[in-house]
Amino acid sequence: MTVNQIIKRAIERLSHEGKLLTPDFYTVAFCEEAKRAGILIEDCDHVERFLPMLGSKLQDEVRQYHVRTTHELVRFLISRLNRMNPTQCAQALNVQMELTKKILEAVEVLHNKEASTLAKQSLRVMQEKSSPERIEHIKQSWSNFLTLYDESFLQRLSVYGKVDDSDLQKTVESLSLVGAKSAATSTDLDVVASLMIASLVPSIASSVNDEIAGLSEELRRDPVLITSKSMIGEIKAAIRLRISLDRASLKDMVVSLDTVLDKLSMQLIELIERSDNSTTEIHGIKQDLERFEAEEKGYDFKTAHKKLYTIAVALEEKTEELSESLKEPSSMVQSLAARVSVLEKDLADAQQASYEDFLTKLYNKRALDEQIKIKEAEYERYDRNYSVIMYDLDHFKEVNDTYGHEAGDAVLKGFASVLKNQSRNVDIVGRFGGEEFMAILSNTDLEGAIILANKVVENVRKSRFVYKGQRIKVSVSAGVAERKALPSKQATVNSSDERLYDAKRNGRDRVEPKPALEG
Ligand code: GH3
Ligand code: MG
Ligand code: MG
Repeated sequence: MTVNQIIKRAIERLSHEGKLLTPDFYTVAFCEEAKRAGILIEDCDHVERFLPMLGSKLQDEVRQYHVRTTHELVRFLISRLNRMNPTQCAQALNVQMELTKKILEAVEVLHNKEASTLAKQSLRVMQEKSSPERIEHIKQSWSNFLTLYDESFLQRLSVYGKVDDSDLQKTVESLSLVGAKSAATSTDLDVVASLMIASLVPSIASSVNDEIAGLSEELRRDPVLITSKSMIGEIKAAIRLRISLDRASLKDMVVSLDTVLDKLSMQLIELIERSDNSTTEIHGIKQDLERFEAEEKGYDFKTAHKKLYTIAVALEEKTEELSESLKEPSSMVQSLAARVSVLEKDLADAQQASYEDFLTKLYNKRALDEQIKIKEAEYERYDRNYSVIMYDLDHFKEVNDTYGHEAGDAVLKGFASVLKNQSRNVDIVGRFGGEEFMAILSNTDLEGAIILANKVVENVRKSRFVYKGQRIKVSVSAGVAERKALPSKQATVNSSDERLYDAKRNGRDRVEPKPALEG
């Protein structure tokens, strides 16, 4: 076997035993492999060779301290030589032990998990007076730690500021963190983190997604995480998730509200169409809403739901009231209807009466005024002539005085019927007031009107007016005028009145003017 092969085996042995390639470990491993290969290496036997030269007490000590290499043997002997006496040695050992303990305690609180774990184990080993193997194991672990310790992570911090690797605390305090100035304290970050958590939690969706909950928890525990790049990515993703959760939830709410409103409006329409069943129908809506609430428990739209429910309840109460009032005795409605028809008849009568003379049932003064306006309009538009005859009973005062007022009324009625009988259907005849009457004759000139007036006057003269068995002598005078000969309607009326007075003056029981032929 060559030396190279032994070196290779020694290295393999170290890695198998979990030891690092330190000079001391390597020497031991190399010598053991050489021994196994049956090769005598002078350097490997030095300790064995020098051992018999030492006294038996020292030999025991060397073995107890696992001195394996000459290098270790030299250090052991030097420490023995430096020892003044056993008491001093024990004192020095104690002081060193205390110092070591203090160092280990300090290491334990430093911010390196591996180092503090090792320091804790070491302290336990020192207190428990452990076996040399156990102490050896811890020693090896420390060797490994020192070899593997990598502080290059500090360099990665340099993008945030100056890194002082001899004073980590100072470095951390002076770091300018992303999005926060160097003044950013952990309290600031706490506030920012709590705001961030609040904004991540869905505002509408009642459930919080696991991802958001996890992220919020991480931030709550360690607000400084906000400044890390990977966390910023996660926060963005969480915001998108939160929005989509809210959106989905809102959509669900709208759909379920829509359903409620559809149901409500459909039932309201049906209700209006069948209004006689209103109360029962509305009660149905209320029950539907109650059922709907049970089905849709998952959604938080209680306020809107409550309002709709209130509407339904209010409608129920209102329609109940309305139905009750409609059920009241219909006799009231009937009596109202009867009153209405009485009033209608009164109104019709009143309208009739307003154009009718109460005593003679001929047109009254008002009707005559209207009729003459119509004749005047026809005259103006179609040049249709008309004439006016004014009649006045002669000495009518005497009739009243002699036979009484009732007799007078009877005479007025009698004259009215003569006037009506002698007139044509198209003629307008009415009582102008008191014992005065008027006739308006359409399409009639003065001559025609005088003929008609004379017929009436003669007929009255010949008629027998009898009241309560008594014959009353009655005569009438008349004045005639034609529209064509005069400037206006009023002038025509006035002229007929003036001719009437002519007739009175000329002896009564006659018509003025006289027919043209008579002169
Ligand atoms: P003359 O021939 O000049 O017309 O004399 P007259 O008495 O008829 O005239 P006057 O104007 O002096 O008297 C009219 C009378 O007619 C007076 C009034 O009491 C009576 N009279 C008016 N309207 C009515 C009525 O509606 N019924 C009754 N019974 N008499 C009436
Ligand atoms: Mg008169
Ligand atoms: Mg008179």
